[in-house]
Amino acid sequence: MAERIPLIVANWKTNKKVAEVYDFLQEIQGKLPDAKKVKVGIAAQDIYLHEMVKQSKELKLPVSVIAENVHWADEGSYTGETSPAALADIEVSGSIIGHYERRKMFKETNGSVGLKVTASLRNGLIPIVAIAEDTTRYNPDDEDMAPLTEIAVGLAGVDRQRAENIVIAYEPAWAIGAAETPSLEVIEHAARVIRKSLAILFSQEVADKIRIQYGGSATPENSKDILGLDDIDGLLIGRASLEPTAFLSMVNDA
Ligand code: PGA
Repeated sequence: MAERIPLIVANWKTNKKVAEVYDFLQEIQGKLPDAKKVKVGIAAQDIYLHEMVKQSKELKLPVSVIAENVHWADEGSYTGETSPAALADIEVSGSIIGHYERRKMFKETNGSVGLKVTASLRNGLIPIVAIAEDTTRYNPDDEDMAPLTEIAVGLAGVDRQRAENIVIAYEPAWAIGAAETPSLEVIEHAARVIRKSLAILFSQEVADKIRIQYGGSATPENSKDILGLDDIDGLLIGRASLEPTAFLSMVNDA
């Protein structure tokens, strides 16, 4: 089985002012683990990304700066959108795509997710594709299982050669911004179903290389157990990533 280096990503959403962004980066300086063992990313509002890239270099932080959304066109007349080419140009490393909040509030569909994933890979960005579907209705032991719709439709157009660079974030809708997480059994089951879906769509070899994160009320209290699951290769962390001590503790659990 392919070795997958865990990826822990902070999802700051629409939080923090510029001074708080800098304070956070300074606070984590010198406290992150070896990047060969754990990869760390921070997703923030677009307006901060360029400065975050510069600041991370200055502070020598082993941190990838991530966008929270990306457009599918490299340039053109799309008022208000940020292109993948522009993100790559300022050395942003990747983008979250199809987060549940974007699907629910901004009408993102599996179709638009697919276009954004392809555009990201074309520009050398890592797409972190968020999956919120209820995976419990699938039987992981069923060899003829149909792949999850969000994967089958969302990733259908993706070139198999580049697919191993995708990261999947399993984030059950009801656990996001909530007080509860699914049981470890449910998370493990969902991750297995997701990997099986990826194997059906691409190949087992590619599926074994793709990292699957868990997201939704991940905290310093539950991160170690979740990260201990076989098919989970990282976390996408909302609220608990806003405070450096909590975030560092979760990064160090990986
Ligand atoms: P939460 O958010 O950790 O605050 O539940 C996770 C997410 O939405 O990515």
